[in-house]
Amino acid sequence: MRAVQVHRAACHERSLALRGDAADINLMCIKRHLRLTSNSPAETLAIARELGAALRPGDVVGLTGDLGAGKTLFCKGVGEALGIPPDRIVSPTFTIVTEHAGPVPLTHIDVYRLSGGREADEIGMRELLSGDGVCLVEWAEKIADRLPTDCIQVTFTILGDDRREIAIAAPDLPRFDAFRARSQRIHLEG
Ligand code: ADP
Ligand code: MG
Repeated sequence: MRAVQVHRAACHERSLALRGDAADINLMCIKRHLRLTSNSPAETLAIARELGAALRPGDVVGLTGDLGAGKTLFCKGVGEALGIPPDRIVSPTFTIVTEHAGPVPLTHIDVYRLSGGREADEIGMRELLSGDGVCLVEWAEKIADRLPTDCIQVTFTILGDDRREIAIAAPDLPRFDAFRARSQRIHLEG
């Protein structure tokens, strides 16, 4: 496990280039939307494990939702599916990036403390998001225009003490079909 410290260096041109790329790719990525209800942390973990099983190196997952909505818990479930023990995945207050070695490397990013896209560029977000493994980004909405347009978006809404709505938009690819079918059954069987 390696914590990457924030270092500051101007890279304005690169951020402009990124926006251009994103606009082009956007036209080509069709996503399918899935809306699930989780009634417990265990159900959220189960949904996350199913998504983790469908992921491939290079995938980026953006997680959005209020504090306590379940983003980090979801990351633990994805990590578990990738062979990373859940207790390794945490959200320490001042760590923005944590890289986990594993069969599929996992980069866990929490951009809560970043001011936005410009600061994300300064810490090398583009390289982080285009790494060899799977990349999970908590508070993804803060850097929405820096994320690849084919990223998997997971949005949490707190419905009650233990209830969460989990809305997932994933590229319309066959490899996500089993995830959709299995995750829709989790609540029913739980
Ligand atoms: P975030 O990273 O979004 O701030 P965390 O994952 O750290 O949130 O914390 C979510 C909290 O909500 C945990 O304490 C978890 O046990 C609790 N919780 C209760 N019900 C659920 C649920 N259905 N899904 C996810 N978390 C839940
Ligand atoms: Mg968190």
